[in-house]
Amino acid sequence: MKLSKIFIISGPSGAGKTTLLKKLFLRKFIKNNFIRTVSFITRKKRRGEKEGSDYFFVSREKFLKLKEKKFFLEYQNILGDYYGTPKYFLTKAKKLGKNLILCIDVKGGMYLRKILKNNKLVNIFISVPYKNVLYERLKKRAENKEIIKKRINLAKKELQFIKKYDYLIINENLKDSLKFLEAILIAESIRRE
Ligand code: 5GP
Repeated sequence: MKLSKIFIISGPSGAGKTTLLKKLFLRKFIKNNFIRTVSFITRKKRRGEKEGSDYFFVSREKFLKLKEKKFFLEYQNILGDYYGTPKYFLTKAKKLGKNLILCIDVKGGMYLRKILKNNKLVNIFISVPYKNVLYERLKKRAENKEIIKKRINLAKKELQFIKKYDYLIINENLKDSLKFLEAILIAESIRRE
């Protein structure tokens, strides 16, 4: 059994992590060599989000039951909702010898760095150039003002963790960010340790 690398991608909500990953997984090398985790979450589904490809949307009760059964590799409560990464993605990546990508918040990332310290980890932070860009992107998600405010405050806290990451992508232009992220994933996946 061989597991290649584990890529932890973090960054504020609205930075464009999901969009970038979706686009990257249309590319052959990424599709063939990487697996992306799909988290279980208790927040409400947003417009356009798909069950099983964006997230698995579950009730709080179901989530807590799964948590008790030690179903999650890690989980966090983010602004009142639970978000958890199922363990089986790690097992699957190990079995197939593929790289694993997790798109999780900074706290989840810090926790995984501790428990997976014997694995090869690559930490990537995706951010935005200006606060107002984040505000505009979050507004498009049709969330209420209160939630947007909370997410912006959370983003401010998350930005303080940038120094803990190996790479920083400022997602100003989607095309450029895609190039950067793909370059990191490819280079790191073929790097001799
Ligand atoms: P959103 O609600 O905007 O989709 O996600 C909020 C935050 O939760 C984002 O930073 C996202 O990366 C993070 N997140 C998504 N899934 C998980 C997970 O399974 N665990 C943790 N710790 N964070 C997650």
